[in-house]
Amino acid sequence: MATPNTFSGGALDRAADRRSDPHWLEDKLLDPSSAAIVTTHDGLYLAEGDPPRPALVAVHGLEQPVLLGVRDGRVLFAADAEPVHSDRLVGAHAATLRDAGAQLSPEDAGLAAYAVAMLNWHRRNIFCGVCGTRTVVADAGHLRICPRCGNHIHPRTDPVVIVLVTDGDRALLGRQPRWPPGRYSALAGFVEPGESIEDTVAREIREEAGVEIADARYRSSQPWPFPSSLMLGFIATYCGGEPEPRDRELEDVRWFDRDELAEIAAGNRPEHIPPPIAIARRLIDEWLSLG
Ligand SMILES: [Zn+2]
Repeated sequence: MATPNTFSGGALDRAADRRSDPHWLEDKLLDPSSAAIVTTHDGLYLAEGDPPRPALVAVHGLEQPVLLGVRDGRVLFAADAEPVHSDRLVGAHAATLRDAGAQLSPEDAGLAAYAVAMLNWHRRNIFCGVCGTRTVVADAGHLRICPRCGNHIHPRTDPVVIVLVTDGDRALLGRQPRWPPGRYSALAGFVEPGESIEDTVAREIREEAGVEIADARYRSSQPWPFPSSLMLGFIATYCGGEPEPRDRELEDVRWFDRDELAEIAAGNRPEHIPPPIAIARRLIDEWLSLG
């Protein structure tokens, strides 16, 4: 693949073997070269400048910063914006992760997605899901432990399949009612418990569009931390059925000719397909390039 999908480019040593080393961590929290990315509930702070970069603040005194890893010899953390004193963020502005993903370098977009996903996970796991007790943070922010029942809670990622169904010179796209006017995209759905990924691909296409597929080929993946998905991209071959919206998720599903999609992708009505940061667009562009 030429370039990684947006949000997956993290040229970072995650230093997983140091997370449980309290002496190393203490040392790095006191190191003046260490820095933290500051996240909000749906994004992060960016520094003024061209090109934009994530704003970095000193780590000393931050409340439970989460270790992200080491980049170019510098240890990077993530912190929640809420307890961060506004003096530290002078000259920075909050951006949504979607907007940041379109502006940042692949490395910084990957770092931003990682930071936002980690802090979102913390916000959702303050209390133990087994007994309701407040959990405590361990392993430099990569584990929460319930002090009452011992439940260990690890950061989670929810697998989602996203599939471009093709049939010769046409591709099947669907439309959700909440999307911008005219927008269509590849079909997607969560992997359910007890299902293989290939089972999910076949089931989702059948449930959402009423068609059968064969030969689903895995292409690439993309972290999609809204709040915690991992998109697994496939191109599959159509083998039967008349496309129609089958569940409440889609309001329309239809074939697009290669020429029509190529025209949209070339800049004519770009809002009618997903933006370049989305793996759905990567699948569409890849299929078009094969024609
Ligand atoms: Zn518990």
